[in-house]
Amino acid sequence: MYNFTYLINNKIMKKIVIFLLILILFAPFYGNFSFALAEDKFYYTDNVEHLFTHCLLAYPETALAKNNEMRLHYNQDCITHNEFKNILKELYKNDYVLVDINKCFKIEDGKALKDKVKVPVGKKPIIFSFDDVNYDHKKLHLGMIDKLILDENGEIAELTNINGKDKITYDREFVCIMEDFIKKHPDFSVDGARGTLNLTGYDGILGYRTQKKNLENREEEINSAKKVIEKLKANGWTFASHSYGHYHMKKISTSAFKEELQSWKDEVESLVGSTKVYVYPYGEWEIIDDSGEISEKHKLLEEYGFKLFCGVGMQQFYSYLPFNKNIKEKTLFMDRKVIDGFTLKNRTTALKPLFDTNAVYDYANRSLVN
Ligand SMILES: [Zn+2]
Repeated sequence: MYNFTYLINNKIMKKIVIFLLILILFAPFYGNFSFALAEDKFYYTDNVEHLFTHCLLAYPETALAKNNEMRLHYNQDCITHNEFKNILKELYKNDYVLVDINKCFKIEDGKALKDKVKVPVGKKPIIFSFDDVNYDHKKLHLGMIDKLILDENGEIAELTNINGKDKITYDREFVCIMEDFIKKHPDFSVDGARGTLNLTGYDGILGYRTQKKNLENREEEINSAKKVIEKLKANGWTFASHSYGHYHMKKISTSAFKEELQSWKDEVESLVGSTKVYVYPYGEWEIIDDSGEISEKHKLLEEYGFKLFCGVGMQQFYSYLPFNKNIKEKTLFMDRKVIDGFTLKNRTTALKPLFDTNAVYDYANRSLVN
């Protein structure tokens, strides 16, 4: 039997051993090997948090002022730009990283299945989404920005008309704030992930009156919106449907529901592209009807291509519904934790793993109301 000393003494074997040693020493520099090492820095998990909020109170001193008719509603349902900045800092400090919602599921045989998302070791995945990003014309000049625009350098900016003058800013709304944060902390975003904008259509999108009912300057508005959409997409932002008219799902008739879906497809999907994610208005959902069968409305949602359905809940939930074992057709469902003035104040314990509400709360501006 050969022993090791014999092999080393053998001239040919000596050369082979030296060659193998060199191969191992330089392994990290070879494409395949370095890929293997880099992959070790990640793990895969389906334990994903999903937070959402609304458009920010960009001018909280206006939004929460005594003479503002919306102040109580804003104080309850929204957060200020300062609070959003604080939340990002806290999430980052607590090892959360942004992931793309579309990477959290896969489609097999036409059905959505939970998928594991790639996260750096030591980090926790989080999805952030934003509801009702239309800058409703009824709310103009009450404390939010007017619209998202592209500035002269082609970058996303915020436009607000204040006392008759257009003001461009970069630090008042979630898009710019998140872009700036990721610029400073690139590791907060996994594979370039950003947030998801959950859009209705009844009053246009992103501050542009792109709805069919706008008979004044619809084409112009559509063209401007498209430029912003293109830039948002290039940066990694994604879109979801939040219905066309922000209805109550239980109250609307099936035929009106179908019209809704078609309007969203015609007026919003035509601009932002198709999406598999549906975000229920008011978090009100219906998958089975009173007779215990899959409801007609849910079937319509599926017909229109939606695969992942998002509700609202302070408990983390990402699983299949309905629980009823007799119904074999399951729907992938993800709850979202609402981040607003109410939860910042009253859900401190539930939010504790994500951030310290005390470090987030905008005491100075909120004191205008409380
Ligand atoms: Zn909404």
